[in-house]
Amino acid sequence: MILAPGATIGILGSGQLGRMLAMAALKLGLRCHIYAPESDAPAYDAASERTVAGFDDEAALARFAEAVDVVTYEFENVPIGCVEFLESRKPVRPGARALAVTQDRFAEKTFLSGLGLATAPFRAVPDAAALAPALAEIGRPAVLKTLRLGYDGKGQAMIREGSDLPALHRSLGGGPMILEGFVAFDCEASVVVARSLEGAMVAYDLCENEHDRHILARTHVPARVAPGVEAAAKALAAKAVEALDYVGVLAVELFVARDATGGARLLVNELAPRVHNSGHWTIEGAQTSQFEQHIRAIAGWPLGSPARRGRIEMSNLIGDEADEWRDILAQPDVSLHLYGKLETRPGRKMGHVTRVFAEPPHGG
Ligand code: AMP
Repeated sequence: MILAPGATIGILGSGQLGRMLAMAALKLGLRCHIYAPESDAPAYDAASERTVAGFDDEAALARFAEAVDVVTYEFENVPIGCVEFLESRKPVRPGARALAVTQDRFAEKTFLSGLGLATAPFRAVPDAAALAPALAEIGRPAVLKTLRLGYDGKGQAMIREGSDLPALHRSLGGGPMILEGFVAFDCEASVVVARSLEGAMVAYDLCENEHDRHILARTHVPARVAPGVEAAAKALAAKAVEALDYVGVLAVELFVARDATGGARLLVNELAPRVHNSGHWTIEGAQTSQFEQHIRAIAGWPLGSPARRGRIEMSNLIGDEADEWRDILAQPDVSLHLYGKLETRPGRKMGHVTRVFAEPPHGG
């Protein structure tokens, strides 16, 4: 089903990504209806309709499905039952399969390795008793992670020599988990790709990502990686979206590590079935932003060019950094996006800043 201008996109989730998706939809003559449990959140300002209700409220979901032409989600922790319910009424892009694979870390790593893509070594840890035998196979250091609801370093713990295993397991809530070998990476990177309803694909240039206390702090494009790494990253992202029969934007989070001979080796850490923090620079820095690209894809429209306009430096404003917003706005060569209220909360991302530098001509 292809949307006509004037049609309404339903977005599950009300955060900053939903806000920027809704802004991109407006530019294309489309309307957005946000569905989320929060009564106050960044996305509502940019949408023409809202439903404030739980993701398990079937009466509200049925009314929402009636009111929209296509449904998408802006975060991967939407309950799968909610997406399946909506899918029986309206197209949901990307669909329940992509969500099911990406919201469970074990299902995700199993899917990736089934495709022949390298990941950290991993084992299932269904309960506390399974941790020691899994660790014996993986070795130390290792990273123990909850299967679900982990982000920005939450829901994970390092296991080193002397770690108290039962205490670590309890500290993460005691449920089923995944144990991963620790990857001594050179850098972290991400590739943002889009796939259209007809299966056309485009990839943005590889992003090099610096984290601060597990939260994405800065992104550089082009990534400072060895020749061939960028093409390999785009090829593996294409493989993943193709295998998921994916429609929309997806981000692949990567570790750039070394193989035994010192050559670069790419490992996939995670797939995000949505627009991604590391892709915010595309608003000013690319011909088509990741947000517009996602809207085009789920509307059944042709994708836009991902061509980059220059060398990019993007930083996220986290907590107190957002207090500098007036000074940042006063700089002529930067663009600033703020997502909503500036009541700074520790660790809360309040906006991002992008600088686009002219690149020397090829060979310069
Ligand atoms: P995640 O919640 O899986 O996205 O992980 C958050 C961050 O923790 C990553 O961006 C890495 O910096 C680090 N990390 C996660 N898994 C591993 C691993 N297996 N080895 C090394 N670092 C990791």
